Amino acid sequence: MKKIPRKINVKRNMPKYVAACSNCGTLLTEETTKNINDKNYCENCITKIQSAPVVKPVYFYTPEGLLKYIAYVICFFTPIAGFIIGTIYFSQKEDLAKKFGKNCLIIMGVGLVVLLILIIISVVLTLLAGGEGGFNIGEGYY
Ligand SMILES: [Zn+2]
Repeated sequence: MKKIPRKINVKRNMPKYVAACSNCGTLLTEETTKNINDKNYCENCITKIQSAPVVKPVYFYTPEGLLKYIAYVICFFTPIAGFIIGTIYFSQKEDLAKKFGKNCLIIMGVGLVVLLILIIISVVLTLLAGGEGGFNIGEGYY
C-alpha cells in the first residue's frame, strides 16, 4: 500500500503553526518563531534566553611547581599530548595559563625535532645496514 503524502496547507490567512517553543511549548506561527541554535522559541522565551547570563568559559587549572615540570616532560615525550595541552592552555585568557600553554607548545616542538632526528638517524642506520647486506627492512616484501 502506497502512502499518500499529506498535502501541506498553503492558505496564507489561516494561522499555520510551524513549530512549538522548546522552552514553554507554545505553538508558533512562522512570524512568531525565533530560531536559536536550531531550536525554536516563542518571543517571550527568546527575551528570557537572550538576557540570561553568558556562560563563562571553563577555567583550567594551571599546573604549578612540580606538576608543571611533569606536564612539560609529558609534552616532550608525547607530542600529541603536548599539542593538546598547549593548545587548550594557550587559548585561555589568563596570562599564567597562556604562558604555560606556550611553554608546552615550545617543548612539544623541541620534542618533535628530537624525535624526528632520532627517526632520521635510525632510518639512515637501517639504510646503511641494508646497503651492506646486513639487516634489511624490506626483507618481507621481496
Ligand atoms: Zn516559549
